[in-house]
Amino acid sequence: MRILLVEDDMMLAEAVMRALTQSAHSVDCARDGAEADRALATEKYDLVLLDVGLPQIDGFEVLRRLRARRSTVPVLMLTVNDALEDLVTGLDLGADDYLTKPFRLSELEARVRALIRRAHSSAGSSDLVHGRLRLDMAGRRLYLDDQPMDLSLRELAVIELLLLREGKVVTKQQIVDHLYGWEDVSSSNVVEVFIHRLRKKLESSGVTITTVRGMGYLIEKPSGSGGD
Ligand code: CA
Repeated sequence: MRILLVEDDMMLAEAVMRALTQSAHSVDCARDGAEADRALATEKYDLVLLDVGLPQIDGFEVLRRLRARRSTVPVLMLTVNDALEDLVTGLDLGADDYLTKPFRLSELEARVRALIRRAHSSAGSSDLVHGRLRLDMAGRRLYLDDQPMDLSLRELAVIELLLLREGKVVTKQQIVDHLYGWEDVSSSNVVEVFIHRLRKKLESSGVTITTVRGMGYLIEKPSGSGGD
């Protein structure tokens, strides 16, 4: 999942980024409300972790503008103040959940999993099934015939993106964006390496990653309902 973290406390931001990156999420960090507003207006995120107390524009205003643009991206508010009015304000503005500082990283990760699950649940599950593959998006694991596969975090992020956009071409740039936060220097050559490794690991699964020349990569929709 691609996550935007909006937090001006750098120590906290770094700890949160580390934890989420370890779960194969790609995290961008904005340090003030204006930067967050710009990022949210131009980039596509799967989840936003939004601090309330921010320089320039506060978290409530960022959220108000986000919802005014009709974005439905899930938002988890981070607040130091558990005063009821603050929480009500956030929820009224369209926040999906909130967490009061200080919080444990494990608590944050549990909330993130729950929001991802909620956002993707059609039948109360955050599993993405493709032929013999099953991706547990909340639990961050890929299964082949119910056996967990041995994938690196980056590989998991790439296959997740391809499966989420099943039947559509995903460009190298989209994969790079999904893999790296703003801080990372990356090249699209790296994408080829991940695709190569994934193809090897998926060899026995019957799932093919197709190269679409000059455009990107594609996983076709499974042809039969239960086929591979
Ligand atoms: Ca703050």
